[in-house]
Amino acid sequence: MNVVVGGGLAGCSIAYALAEAGADVLLIEQRGGVGQAASGNPQGILMPYLSDRDSGASSVYGKGFEISCQILDELADQHGFALSRGVAQLPTNRRLTRVAVECTEMGLWLGAQDLSEHTGIALSEGGFWFPNGRCVQVASLCDALANHHRIRRECDLRVNKIERLDGSWRLETTDTPITAMNVFVAASYECAQLDQLNWLPQSRVRGQIAYVRATPKTKALKAAICADGYVTPAHCGFHVAGATFDRDIEDEELRPERNRELLRQIGTWAAPFGAPSIDCDQGRVAFRHTTPDRLPIVGMVPRMETWLAGGERAVARFNRDQVDYWPNLYVSAGHGSRGLTTCFAAARHLVGLVQGLLQVDRTLEPLRFARQAMIRSLKQHEATTS
Ligand SMILES: Cc1cc2nc3c(=O)[nH]c(=O)nc-3n(C[C@H](O)[C@H](O)[C@H](O)COP(=O)(O)OP(=O)(O)OC[C@H]3O[C@@H](n4cnc5c(N)ncnc54)[C@H](O)[C@@H]3O)c2cc1C
Repeated sequence: MNVVVGGGLAGCSIAYALAEAGADVLLIEQRGGVGQAASGNPQGILMPYLSDRDSGASSVYGKGFEISCQILDELADQHGFALSRGVAQLPTNRRLTRVAVECTEMGLWLGAQDLSEHTGIALSEGGFWFPNGRCVQVASLCDALANHHRIRRECDLRVNKIERLDGSWRLETTDTPITAMNVFVAASYECAQLDQLNWLPQSRVRGQIAYVRATPKTKALKAAICADGYVTPAHCGFHVAGATFDRDIEDEELRPERNRELLRQIGTWAAPFGAPSIDCDQGRVAFRHTTPDRLPIVGMVPRMETWLAGGERAVARFNRDQVDYWPNLYVSAGHGSRGLTTCFAAARHLVGLVQGLLQVDRTLEPLRFARQAMIRSLKQHEATTS
């Protein structure tokens, strides 16, 4: 049996990828339904990430964007998750302007007039236009994925502990224990509450989005626009404006003043949203799971005790692809602010690993954090003893 822990976009896309590959899946979510934590944005934006550096990030996000578009197109609009099509991005710095020339595969650089026509509202400057970018109702998308006939979902069920027993995994839950052959942990920053994953980065960053009541002027917006903040076309009478990135606020209470700050910012480049009378007192708060290198954590889970005990030899073994991994234990987490771009590619990668068709991806694998720390400490040790 395949068990996925966590019913957000990461978990639902793993369950869906496994089901599409012909496997039966049990999807476990501690909340009352899927897509209720970070993946509950009523109008999330799928768009590529632009970078002028030839970094691992460009390739991860470029490939991720392609795979997400493909899967969303395949799913068609079964559950009404698809909202508007096309996303505009105004360059917020020179770096972004420089990459305009290189991004012709995913998008186009348009002048102010053309971009205004695509988005439906007057913009004073040009920017990128991504015709395949889009807005989606993220919880409905999770629901559409988890609706596959090979997936059984158990909500209101928490996995407290997992342990290896007689060649399989035993999951201790808030109800009866479950036995599984393969376990996929997609529990965002809560992954680190499981013993096998307690060494992973677990920083969480609060995000608040504002629900902005549409006015006759703002209703003209046809496609999402991103710059410092973003705003989406009205759906059911509301736009979504987002999102704050608050590292230091831990509570989940909606702060109306943060909504007004978001709107003030957006009003500087999308004038209709700057009107003082706009009603934006409602919204939503959730927490992203972030990582130090801003890339997700995707792959097999190494046995940390063996790794730590190995010291210098462990690094050498890593370099020779001889890492001691837990059997059949996988993780997809740390999707930060871009889960719509990364979760589907992560799921596809994990299924490829299970099937033995793909190799570990060094850029994303969980061990990279432990490895960097280990190399640093070995270097320090060398420096102090030489
Ligand atoms: C305000 C905000 C706006 C955003 N906007 C965008 C956007 O426009 N575009 C974009 O691409 N991304 C956006 N993101 C990021 C995106 O939402 C996340 O990257 C994505 O939702 C992460 O999915 P996840 O499944 O990893 O996490 P989550 O959706 O948080 O899912 C994790 C799930 O695991 C469950 N869980 C945890 N522990 C256990 C356990 N022990 N047992 C059972 N269940 C467990 C949790 O209850 C939760 O449902 C936004 C995020 C925020 C906060």
